[in-house]
Amino acid sequence: MNVILIGPPLCGKGTQAKLLKEKFNLIHLSTGEMLREISSHGTKLANEIKSLIDNGHFVSDELIIEVVKNKLDEINSQHDNNSQYGLLFDGFPRTVAQAKALENILKIDYILEIVVSKEEIARRVVDRASCSKCGKAYLLSNIKTDICEVCGGKITQRKDDTKEIAEARYDEYMFKTYPIIEYFKNHNGYHKIDGEKSTEMVFDQICKVLK
Ligand code: AMP
Repeated sequence: MNVILIGPPLCGKGTQAKLLKEKFNLIHLSTGEMLREISSHGTKLANEIKSLIDNGHFVSDELIIEVVKNKLDEINSQHDNNSQYGLLFDGFPRTVAQAKALENILKIDYILEIVVSKEEIARRVVDRASCSKCGKAYLLSNIKTDICEVCGGKITQRKDDTKEIAEARYDEYMFKTYPIIEYFKNHNGYHKIDGEKSTEMVFDQICKVLK
């Protein structure tokens, strides 16, 4: 089973992906995480990617398709031909060109659109933080210390988590990614999920679809 999660920044894709990965035993592919890893290497390409991410802009379709293809090759090489595994795409595809490229590589079973308004996203962004060591997510309004309760790492905000950048990313999402919904809306695996509910309720809606 191959699943795509589509939604604006801060719609909760990452949180849902972690829960779904466990429940359905899927391989979680977050292109944001892949790019943040590449951008930490200090090369010219790494610095270019870092600057795009920090300013809330997309990297090019060619680059991200290449990154995803390499990742899929790596996963393939770790599994033998007969073993079945499901993939969960979080943050990819983000353009129609990326969607078409992915369709050429594998069969997409589910496209889940997580719907959250721009106002809700602006409210969420200033509150989002995570542990810089283990990645556990936190709400700043809920914590009394910046030390992670799981691993003792430091809780920080992502550099691109400002209201202005989140709004720019939302606009870029509507302009570049939303057309994917138009493209997939007749696909029989396409479903709309109300992302403004609690984490548990969103997860519940998704589980009902994937069953
Ligand atoms: P995310 O962690 O999914 O919010 O992604 C963080 C940033 O990485 C985005 O704001 C983009 O700058 C970049 N990025 C991630 N995935 C893609 C993609 N599929 N296409 C273009 N840029 C991407």
